[in-house]
Amino acid sequence: MKCLICGRDAAGELCRHHVEAKEKLQAAYPRWVEAYGEMGWAEYLDNVKRNVQTGQWAKETAEFLQGD
Ligand SMILES: [Zn+2]
Repeated sequence: MKCLICGRDAAGELCRHHVEAKEKLQAAYPRWVEAYGEMGWAEYLDNVKRNVQTGQWAKETAEFLQGD
């Protein structure tokens, strides 16, 4: 299969870079809610995308997850 985000060869829907980024995003979400209070998943992804410290993989993954 090809990664749905970048088109690289992938074992599943996403390549290992984007799988890793997705797992990190999901793992960090509860911490964001804890730090900033109530925050929806979509709003969280928006914040991730706008964060200058967010890496390219995570940005692309957040974009992809929003389109889900
Ligand atoms: Zn990918």
